[in-house]
Amino acid sequence: MQQRLREQVLEANLELVRRNLVLYTFGNVSGIARDEGLVVIKPSGVPYEQMKPEHLVVTDLDGNIVEGKLRPSSDLPTHLVLYNQFPEIGGVAHTHSEYATAWAQARQPIPCFGTTHADYFHGPVPVTAELAEADIAGDYEKNTGHAVVRCLRQTTPSAAPGVLVANHGPFAWGKDAAEAAHHAVILEAIARMAYFTLGINAAAQPAGRALHDKHYLRKHGKNAYYGQGSG
Ligand SMILES: [Zn+2]
Repeated sequence: MQQRLREQVLEANLELVRRNLVLYTFGNVSGIARDEGLVVIKPSGVPYEQMKPEHLVVTDLDGNIVEGKLRPSSDLPTHLVLYNQFPEIGGVAHTHSEYATAWAQARQPIPCFGTTHADYFHGPVPVTAELAEADIAGDYEKNTGHAVVRCLRQTTPSAAPGVLVANHGPFAWGKDAAEAAHHAVILEAIARMAYFTLGINAAAQPAGRALHDKHYLRKHGKNAYYGQGSG
């Protein structure tokens, strides 16, 4: 079941490894088949180098396992909140990549210092509020998802294809698992560049609105003209 999606999700998980976003088994990518309402996600605790498509776990949108012998990633409930809340999302990626996680730990949104950032995010990379003790003691992973959703109230999942979960790390998403992983990679690069920017000049200012809008909207606006078009 969902063989193609399994292969896509496995490939997206391996992309995080290739791009050095993963320490041991940290991180996870999932993808969804919207027609069937089925989610494919990385299994919990299986080393990436041993992972095969059949190890991936298929669940419904309530987290019930539909197929797979292994336990799904413990972050599954966070992914499910995002899929349930945002129908436009087809893939979710979570990492503890170092620079993005450093910003998450500092609980600082990442300012848009340049066009790499502006090509993907229409505004700073947001950071969630700290989770309340009751949220941690309760359905922790689900409540992490709700914190991400609250964080996106001022924006949209397409204008912010990822956020930083306070004291934890980045979650990113996209139209499918591959794009979610791509956004996780970009988010790490943005976080790294912003860190260096402030190292060179602690008083560095965000890019101006005109440049930020130009770069974001030429790729994502209704009059987008960057690239070859996706039809
Ligand atoms: Zn995590």
